[in-house]
Amino acid sequence: MKIAVPAEVDLGEPRVAATPDTVKRLVALGAEMAVETGAGLKSGILDADYQAAGATIAASAQDALYGADVVLKVRRPTDAEIPAYKPGALVLAIMDPYGNDWALQAMANAGLAAFAMELMPRITRAQVMDVLSSQANLAGYRAVIDAAGEFGRALPMMMTAAGTIPAARCFVMGAGVAGLQAIATARRLGAVVTATDVRPAAKEQVESLGAKFVAVEDEEFKQAETKAGYAKPMSAEYQAKQAALVAEHIKKQDMVITTALIPGRPAPKLVSAAMVASMKPGSVIVDLAVERGGNVEGALPGQIAEVNGVKIIGHLNMPGRIAASASQLYAKNLYAFLETMIDKASKTLAVKWDDELVKATLLTRDNTIVHPNFAPKVE
Ligand code: NAD
Repeated sequence: MKIAVPAEVDLGEPRVAATPDTVKRLVALGAEMAVETGAGLKSGILDADYQAAGATIAASAQDALYGADVVLKVRRPTDAEIPAYKPGALVLAIMDPYGNDWALQAMANAGLAAFAMELMPRITRAQVMDVLSSQANLAGYRAVIDAAGEFGRALPMMMTAAGTIPAARCFVMGAGVAGLQAIATARRLGAVVTATDVRPAAKEQVESLGAKFVAVEDEEFKQAETKAGYAKPMSAEYQAKQAALVAEHIKKQDMVITTALIPGRPAPKLVSAAMVASMKPGSVIVDLAVERGGNVEGALPGQIAEVNGVKIIGHLNMPGRIAASASQLYAKNLYAFLETMIDKASKTLAVKWDDELVKATLLTRDNTIVHPNFAPKVE
């Protein structure tokens, strides 16, 4: 059982899919680990660290991938990478499958068994494999750190001999995993924090972190959570009421962190250009949804936009901005899933194709797109 860890080819991706800790655990399960030279550098891991954990270092991706039965990646393999993969190899990565049919087809054509880690069901057994949570948690933290770095004032109230600096006001929009960590981080830094969400369950969670919940709590709000725990797209009527409430609230804020997402859809637009214009110069907005179309009008992917003195941070790959921690947790998520596919006695791969976690995440197998959400529709 050979497992390859190639370096990420995307220059904007500093994370790596294995750490010395997960390498060691996989070696103990009988794996022969091949890590491409330099794969961990941007996450602070040296080739020597992997070697000490039992991996061999491959001089190129080609060498690492040669004969590999399993490939651990952060991002989906590109067309340029795929030819080096062995047909039938299991590939575990963040596959970004929505709207990328051609890429899924390319992996199917190559005979790969591609697993999309972000489709992992959010059930108790799979919590340790939940990459959305592990990465969103760090993104929420980092968003506040980035906002604080761009903000020209202090966050906590400071009473000094030369005068009192008021506490900054921070508004978090979307109180899922990233939003809750943003609330906790802003509170730790001393800001006065408010938060909003369309799911009623979020209210108690926001309040338990010491923040004030601000939302339109009408009948639609009471029904806004799907069985899977996600938000539904809201009606135009609800959105108008929400916008009126937010418009009033946002002009008093120093910092806004937006995290609102709806699975498989573009991010909801929550902050209009007029709302941005109503904020004080020096205020900072971080749009964590920028890669999915953005929650904030005027947010630019990969840039810090400035509108009337208000900075709108649109950094891409926020978990990658805290790469060492993100890699540590991501690698552990992958290990936990892969472990369920290894027979401990024979130390060989034994994928249970009927397992609900496998069925929920498997995109392609045997030259076919097998996932019901992405399989070509038969007319
Ligand atoms: P997400 O990334 O899909 O969305 C972020 C937040 O944006 C969500 O809280 C969502 O309700 C909110 N949102 C969507 N549209 C909005 C709008 N128009 N206005 C304001 N807010 C809006 O969500 P997530 O962080 O992945 O978490 C979703 C849910 O899953 C949460 O309830 C979370 O606690 C739960 N969860 C459960 C587990 C588990 O293992 N049981 C693990 C992780 C998350």
